Amino acid sequence: LVEEFDVAVVGAGPAGLMAALNAAEKGVGVVVFDKKAEIGVPVRCGEFHPAPEEVPNILPKATDCMDVFDLPSFTIANRCTRIRLYSGLGRYWEFDFDGNILDRERMEKWIAEKAQRNGAVIRMSSPAKTFVENGSCTVGPSKEKAVKAKVVIAADGFPSATARAGGLPVDYYVSPPNSAVNVQFHMERIEVENELTEMFFDANYAPGGYAWIIPKGSGVANVGLGIRAPFMKKEKNIRALLDEFIYDHELLKNRLSNGTRSSYVSKILPVDGPIERTYGQAMLAAGDAACMVMPTNGGGIAPAMITGKLAGMVAADHVLKGRPLSDYEDMWMHRIGREMEASTRMRRAADRFMGSNRIMHYLMKFLGSNGIRDVILCRIPWSLAPLVEIFA
Ligand SMILES: Cc1cc2nc3c(=O)[nH]c(=O)nc-3n(C[C@H](O)[C@H](O)[C@H](O)COP(=O)(O)OP(=O)(O)OC[C@H]3O[C@@H](n4cnc5c(N)ncnc54)[C@H](O)[C@@H]3O)c2cc1C
Repeated sequence: LVEEFDVAVVGAGPAGLMAALNAAEKGVGVVVFDKKAEIGVPVRCGEFHPAPEEVPNILPKATDCMDVFDLPSFTIANRCTRIRLYSGLGRYWEFDFDGNILDRERMEKWIAEKAQRNGAVIRMSSPAKTFVENGSCTVGPSKEKAVKAKVVIAADGFPSATARAGGLPVDYYVSPPNSAVNVQFHMERIEVENELTEMFFDANYAPGGYAWIIPKGSGVANVGLGIRAPFMKKEKNIRALLDEFIYDHELLKNRLSNGTRSSYVSKILPVDGPIERTYGQAMLAAGDAACMVMPTNGGGIAPAMITGKLAGMVAADHVLKGRPLSDYEDMWMHRIGREMEASTRMRRAADRFMGSNRIMHYLMKFLGSNGIRDVILCRIPWSLAPLVEIFA
């Protein structure tokens, strides 16, 4: 006998869990599959997440998604109030920004428990494949053991095998210019300011991307970097670049090199904007599976949670009232579409400058703290608009 659910979600990260919670809250039957053994483990993320106060500034159309930002204090490890960006020539610019540094494991477990209380079934250690036949979907470890679902939500990260099985256009994004390779250590006993997140735009350590120090309080931080392969001048192991950043960087070696390191993680992220179509006949794609990462800052938690929430709501309404799945695309576009597009265009334009530390330095100097703030927060500053027009 084939098990049947209204909604099957592949992936129990921030996108999949929010989808499961929001669908289950509407009273439909939800199952979630994840290949990991435990929710939220391992954490492969810097855990920086905008504080609720910043939402009207950064995503003014998403203020009806405040539950994504307004999180209980036990899911927050630290609170930052400033972001500082360094050029490769050692100068820095700084601006005020309230960010919560999450304890993602706790946050994900908290969302999962709420989804389960609303009736969602979560199956861990369950890698799932999606089989589409005559427009209907089954999901599970094999065709024989798959469950039937009216709607499948692809929330299995990047690149999404689920979205690909549902015929969504994911392949274009799986290419070196459109994706970034990220590596990170969790570090302890280092010199960091609790309120300050630091970003380093230095082609020697993070070609085509940036390196970061995201403080979790009491001398603890996520220290990592993201690179893009076309910017690598010579063949180099990306972990070696992170070692050099921690041990050799002139501004950092006294602060970081005596610390202890643990939890090395690596992961590829899409950085060329959302996939062109995020819904299919019986499928929706959310979070990294739909390439919902802000290309100029690599932020993917908020887009994953927002798109996951909207996907769960639309999937449930589709089952209950026949709502078209295409409504999902209209909903996320309205809330985060403008910022996604601005961020994607700025990243494409910045590709012309990122290869040279000197040019990037002068670009940052030209933009100043306010212009840099706009870029990081996914708004095109007026002073950059002509360059974006020409190069993006
Ligand atoms: C090093 C690093 C640092 C980052 N720092 C930040 C940051 O500071 N702030 C920020 O906003 N974003 C950051 N991001 C991006 C952010 O982590 C992602 O955008 C976010 O996790 C996306 O959530 P998701 O639910 O879409 O995907 P994921 O979190 O990738 O979840 C996908 C889930 O699907 C599961 N899965 C995959 N395939 C299958 C399968 N076949 N069957 C079952 N389960 C499957 C996986 O096990 C996983 O649990 C960072 C990313 C990296 C790599």
